[in-house]
Amino acid sequence: MAGEAQPRFDIPEADAFTAPYWQAAAEGRLLLRRCRAEGCGAAHHYPREFCPRCWSEDVVWEEAGGRATLYTWSIVHRNDLPPFGERVPYVPAVVELAEGPRMMTEIVDAPHETLHVGMPLRVTFRTLASTEPPGTAPTVPVVRPA
Ligand SMILES: [Zn+2]
Repeated sequence: MAGEAQPRFDIPEADAFTAPYWQAAAEGRLLLRRCRAEGCGAAHHYPREFCPRCWSEDVVWEEAGGRATLYTWSIVHRNDLPPFGERVPYVPAVVELAEGPRMMTEIVDAPHETLHVGMPLRVTFRTLASTEPPGTAPTVPVVRPA
C-alpha cells in the first residue's frame, strides 16, 4: 500500500562474526577465510568460524586479490521478490576466485552473449539502496569482465 515500506529480500544481515567482512566490503575489499592448520592451508568462502576441509578453528581473515573466472551463471528475467523485479534481466553466477573458493555473486556490465565458462572477471562492489537506519546500507561484492 502507498506509504508502507516494501519488504526487501536483498539485504544481508551482519553479525559479530561477519562484521569484519561487511566492513571490508564497504571499503572495497573482499575478505576470504584462510586455514592455518599444518598440512591444510585452504581458503574458503562464505566465511565460517572453522575450516570446511579439516575442521580446524585456526582460521583467519585474508584479503582476496579480486581475480575470478566464471564457473556457471543464469539469466533471470522474472523475480517477484522486491527489489529484484526492478533489476531484471540480471545474471546471478558462481565464480571461482583465484584463491580457489567459489562465490555466489552477480555479473554486471557484461553483454549476455559474451558470457562463457572460464571468462576472466574482476570483483567490484555495489552499495545497496539506503536502508534504515540511514548510513547502514550494506555493500556486496559483484563481478564484471576483467
Ligand atoms: Zn583446514
